[in-house]
Amino acid sequence: MYNNLGNTKECKTLIKHGFIQVNGVVETNCKRKIQEEDVLIYQGKKLKSQPFHYLMLNKPKGYLCANKDEKEKCVVDLIDYLDCFCLGRLDRDTTGLLILTNDKSLKKLLLPQNHVKKTYLVETKEKLKKVDQEVFKRGIIIDQSIQCLPAKLEILDDFHGYVTLEEGKYHQIKKMFLSLKNEVVSLKRISFDEIYLDEDLLEGMSRPLNKEERNKLI
Ligand code: URA
Repeated sequence: MYNNLGNTKECKTLIKHGFIQVNGVVETNCKRKIQEEDVLIYQGKKLKSQPFHYLMLNKPKGYLCANKDEKEKCVVDLIDYLDCFCLGRLDRDTTGLLILTNDKSLKKLLLPQNHVKKTYLVETKEKLKKVDQEVFKRGIIIDQSIQCLPAKLEILDDFHGYVTLEEGKYHQIKKMFLSLKNEVVSLKRISFDEIYLDEDLLEGMSRPLNKEERNKLI
């Protein structure tokens, strides 16, 4: 997207017809990811590039993973960009790592066949048992008949553990513990696709992903 060239469709047409140079070479691939350091030229003039946004937000409780809601507060209210969407949803009462972007190509990371790992710190009402780990590993059935993919439960102490999923069904972890006759007291996402929640980021704060983190996603 180039903010002084026209809308997305017009930009794509110019690229496809070879009007744009990236670092001195004509680029006709509209899907090429432009980095901040790339120099773009159109008709001999430098373009101001507007690269994609990739943000890490430490989501507080009480916010919906949505762009707009009539009654509720939304995570997009916490960031500076209107066009970003959440890469995977967290429940209103779940906290922790949320990645927001305007790069639609990353929606593929949400498909279960891509096995993107998400890890959550969970606190439970009842004691965690060693046998629960086996059940997680085999794949829990939720909502009576929905089979979850194998998942990992790492027990930290009686009431705390890490759960790692490779999919994202609605209220999945809460339902998994309900199937085990237990209950989630609190849930915090600490990683997404090998990107870890920055411990210096206070709840409600966001920052752009650094280059290393971006490269894990793209
Ligand atoms: N599982 C849940 O139950 N809730 C979340 O927010 C994320 C995973």
